[in-house]
Amino acid sequence: MAEAGQHDPRRDIPRTDVLLRNPILVEAARRLGHVIVKRAVLGAQQRARDGEIAPEEVAAAAATDLDVRQRLPTTLRPVLNATGVVLHTNIGRAPLTEGARTAIARASGYVDVELDLETGRRASRGRGTLDALLDRVPAAGAALVVNNGAGALVLATTALAAGREVLVSRGELVEIGDGFRLPDLVTSTGARLHEVGTTNRTTLRDYAGAVGPATAAILKVHPSNFRIEGFTSAASIPGLAGLARDHRLPLVVDIGSGLLHPEPLLPDEPDASTVLTDGASIVTSSGDKLLGGPQAGVILGEAAVVERLRRHPLARALRTDKLTLAALEATLRGGPTVAETFLRADPDALHARCVLLAEAVGGRVVPSEGAVGGGGAPGVTLSGWAVALPQGYAAQLRHADPAVLARVESGLTIVDLRCVPAESDDELIAAIRSVTDALEAGSAAQKPR
Ligand SMILES: *Cc1c(COP(=O)(O)O)cnc(C)c1O
Repeated sequence: MAEAGQHDPRRDIPRTDVLLRNPILVEAARRLGHVIVKRAVLGAQQRARDGEIAPEEVAAAAATDLDVRQRLPTTLRPVLNATGVVLHTNIGRAPLTEGARTAIARASGYVDVELDLETGRRASRGRGTLDALLDRVPAAGAALVVNNGAGALVLATTALAAGREVLVSRGELVEIGDGFRLPDLVTSTGARLHEVGTTNRTTLRDYAGAVGPATAAILKVHPSNFRIEGFTSAASIPGLAGLARDHRLPLVVDIGSGLLHPEPLLPDEPDASTVLTDGASIVTSSGDKLLGGPQAGVILGEAAVVERLRRHPLARALRTDKLTLAALEATLRGGPTVAETFLRADPDALHARCVLLAEAVGGRVVPSEGAVGGGGAPGVTLSGWAVALPQGYAAQLRHADPAVLARVESGLTIVDLRCVPAESDDELIAAIRSVTDALEAGSAAQKPR
């Protein structure tokens, strides 16, 4: 304990590598990532150098700083989507519009979700949302919103076909992702699948030959996430609708991604209006794919069929909360969605932003192929631009604040700006710079790992 008169206290500031071995900070790094913890440590060391805190307080100050971060209201962390994939299931599919975000905030207290303020009596749940759906899709007689696309299909097959048969083409027995298989979902409801046709070809005659006394419904599923090319055929919706009518069967069409009207950029994606006009009894789809809204299952179609679904006890188990109803209504009434904007992003504007980004952080501007994602439009690539950085950036960028998710391609980190809002470019620049700093500090200090 030498009380040196001329001793400079700044010399007692613990070294970065020593601080990073502090158990509390090791634990924080496990949760928050190395980059954030290191930044807190460097910040605390600087405060000690500035004389704001004593050298022995550095570790505690860094821990306090990190603790404040950890007391955020949710562990969900915002991500800048630099993948070029518009609907990325792992980061929550469609980003909501400003209007939808405002609607969620507005609906988060007490609201008249199931009350008529005029009369003081109970009212039908989510009626504003259902009206918005019917305004957008006049071909539908009624609408119903459930928890998600899978829920919509479960409800439809349960209410229409439990204990009986559903006709479905062998070419449409698809796996959606993460081991989720549509045939398993349908049979879990107690309906039996009656498979018709072959993997690559199914004709209207195949369906017609399979209709029998046990048939309860005809199901057509859009095989969203793959394409069969070559010697193929499938029965058309008008053809199936005619067959269904002749046998007084409902025709259920699962279009998957939830376009309400044709999208010229995605000519192979089915849309609810066309499918209903072509004669389907009901269409089911997701709310958070190309519809661009919150997670939801949207059911549109003939009033009598929708009513059978609505009255089934399972509908109660699949019902949506007020926040979803609010966000969906705002999405439907609010003009172009964020997903649509990203889908249609102007390549020239993307290029100009990439040039500025490369000037700010280094790297090379390269052409980049984006995708629709979310298991939609598998054959479609969206041409745009990106900034290519060394491969080592990708992992570190995930730990930046905000986290940045980029693509790794042929040994490079590809930062695609299609799905990064232009107003977030500064945040993106700051995140990339923080990684550059950390990488440089790391290579200067003999590499931490
Ligand atoms: C995505 C998809 C589903 C499942 O929808 P979720 O909203 O993810 O539950 C069902 N069917 C098809 C054809 C799909 O593309």
